[in-house]
Amino acid sequence: MVAERYHAIQARVESACKRAGRNTSDVTLIAVSKTKPVKLLSEAYEAGARDFGENKVQEILEKYPLLPADIRWHMIGHLQTNKVRQVVGRVCLIHSVDSVKLAREIEKESSKQDIVTPILLEVNVAREESKFGFFLEDTESALKEIAAFPHVNIQGLMTIAPFVENAEENRHIFRKLYQFFIDIKSKNVDNVNMNVLSMGMTGDFEVAIEEGATMVRVGTGIFGERQIRENY
Ligand SMILES: *Cc1c(COP(=O)(O)O)cnc(C)c1O
Repeated sequence: MVAERYHAIQARVESACKRAGRNTSDVTLIAVSKTKPVKLLSEAYEAGARDFGENKVQEILEKYPLLPADIRWHMIGHLQTNKVRQVVGRVCLIHSVDSVKLAREIEKESSKQDIVTPILLEVNVAREESKFGFFLEDTESALKEIAAFPHVNIQGLMTIAPFVENAEENRHIFRKLYQFFIDIKSKNVDNVNMNVLSMGMTGDFEVAIEEGATMVRVGTGIFGERQIRENY
């Protein structure tokens, strides 16, 4: 079941890339496994998934020892500063850096561990009150402040688009973030890479790919409905 769904989503990723004239290898499909049991993650792994997204530190800590070591874990949920210590060094990318304070905490812990932690800045493009992330107009100054941290490396941007019935309604959101991404990229800020644009979920990942996403985060489409309606 999970294997079929995973392959079907992968095929849709490939078609969207083709439509957009992009290489399939430019887009990473992240299997968002939050709330799902390890058995289903194993099925996705067997089907070829190597990138898994979780939104709770506790869940990553419980799951990762039970699964193959070549899995790349992505922290995609809001991260509290007091949990930073547990996640730094364990995940390949933190997508959800939504404050300078959080980045500073990641810097401190990464320095202690003598590593550089790759991060994305989360941008609340649609300015939804229920969501975390920088407003677009505040992102550049935050980025410049965070870029000064030697043990943190900004690799790009992430957004969670609004929940909509029709994915087309989010196209302008993705386009706006892509334009900002290109704009920042062209400024060549020291210690900032701007290679990753994490946007698009089950309902809208194809539109996100057409608008320049390099990582899409798909949960329901691979693992089925979750019992709990997640509060992002
Ligand atoms: C849950 C979640 C997803 C996946 O959502 P689906 O609609 O199930 O694909 C993507 N990104 C984030 C940040 C999430 O919390």
